[in-house]
Amino acid sequence: LANLLKVSRTTVINAYRLLEENGLVTTRVGSGTYITELSTGDGHTGSMPWEQLFSPPYKSPLASLLRSLVSSPTADDTISFAAGMPDPQLYDLTILENLTNQCPDLPKETFGHISIEGYSPLRHSLAAWQTSLGIPTSPDNVLIVSGSQQGLYLLVKALVEPRDYVIVESPTYLGTIQLLEAAGARILGLPQSDSLDLAVLEDYLIRYRPKFFYTIPTFQNPAGRVMTLAQRQELIRLAARYRLAIVEDDPYSQLYYGQQPPPTLKSLDTYGGVIYLSTFSKILFPGLRTGWITAPPPVINRLAQEKQYVDLHSNNLSQIILHTCLQQDYLAQHLTLVRREYRKRRDALAGAIRQYCPAYLDFTLPAGGFYLWCKVHPPASPAELLRQAAAAGVTFVPGEAFYLNQPDSPYIRLCFVTHDEDRLTEGVRRLAKILASGAAN
Ligand code: PMP
Repeated sequence: LANLLKVSRTTVINAYRLLEENGLVTTRVGSGTYITELSTGDGHTGSMPWEQLFSPPYKSPLASLLRSLVSSPTADDTISFAAGMPDPQLYDLTILENLTNQCPDLPKETFGHISIEGYSPLRHSLAAWQTSLGIPTSPDNVLIVSGSQQGLYLLVKALVEPRDYVIVESPTYLGTIQLLEAAGARILGLPQSDSLDLAVLEDYLIRYRPKFFYTIPTFQNPAGRVMTLAQRQELIRLAARYRLAIVEDDPYSQLYYGQQPPPTLKSLDTYGGVIYLSTFSKILFPGLRTGWITAPPPVINRLAQEKQYVDLHSNNLSQIILHTCLQQDYLAQHLTLVRREYRKRRDALAGAIRQYCPAYLDFTLPAGGFYLWCKVHPPASPAELLRQAAAAGVTFVPGEAFYLNQPDSPYIRLCFVTHDEDRLTEGVRRLAKILASGAAN
């Protein structure tokens, strides 16, 4: 074959090896090399080489960490501090039944295809709700998305090209880091301390001309921090001066356990530069997969174009249910209930840590949201800690998942809303034993 093709023998041998590695040929010793049969002849397919057809997947450096989180052997009655999910026990299924029962009153067209931007009554009721919360919104400024994760995906798709610079807080929401990395963005981390470092931000603006600044100003994920009103105003002033686009991700601001948080950046926006995202996932049912984006019409139009390629429009039934929730004031009642309940849970988790492992975990009590962000003492490997904790029946997310690079100090993120107070306390007891054993140091 080498002579025939006028190539070296090694090239031919390598080519055969490659074909074999990819399952396209099979070598039988003493007989020869044969093309692999694709069909077994009994109606079942053989070894279709799917791997060859796939486009190269983006492999996040964080993927293995998260895989270990999911695949670590866990005890049967695991207490999860890991998932940022409301407690399913608080889902009111009778309201779902009531709302679904109202569907036959709707025109049949409601269940056909609707506009990409979303179910018009929901766009109206969301616009009215947001206006009442201090963000003057018209329905044309609203795009309904299938969870704010989809909103972030569309934004990255519409705004980011490979090698573009984007600024994020460090630490920040893992899902956004992964989307930006997959898009080939160059991500600049803005270290989070007590205050927003506007000098560093301005320096980034001058040096890198970033596409946007992604921020979670209220009850941040993972750090629980709240940007003060003064910081918000200064940020808007700076952003307006540089025409910096801000992406404000705001799933948690309605979950406050004391005073209401400062107004959103969107409500302070003086230059039309803030794109606002929120979701029903943390305040109602995450499984309805419904969130929304509020932005100036040119942005909404461009995002709608991208959304058309993804799913034409979001699920009608979810949108109908959520519209009725807003209209019949059910959301407000539910918020009152969960604020009271989650506050108790936050305090139970904090109290248990103070009782069982005060020397090992250091935190600031968050004024809202889902998470307690704890610094680990003495420095231990959070990934190793997780392996041991999972075996002992308690899980959390290691802090490094929320950073672009290895953080200076080890942190863990504990979600306090998924379990009731007794289970939270039991979870801390289990964690305290592992921490006290020092095995992860
Ligand atoms: N942004 C942030 C900050 C989040 O914490 C989450 C959920 N963990 C999302 C976006 C995605 O939420 P959704 O369920 O609406 O896609």
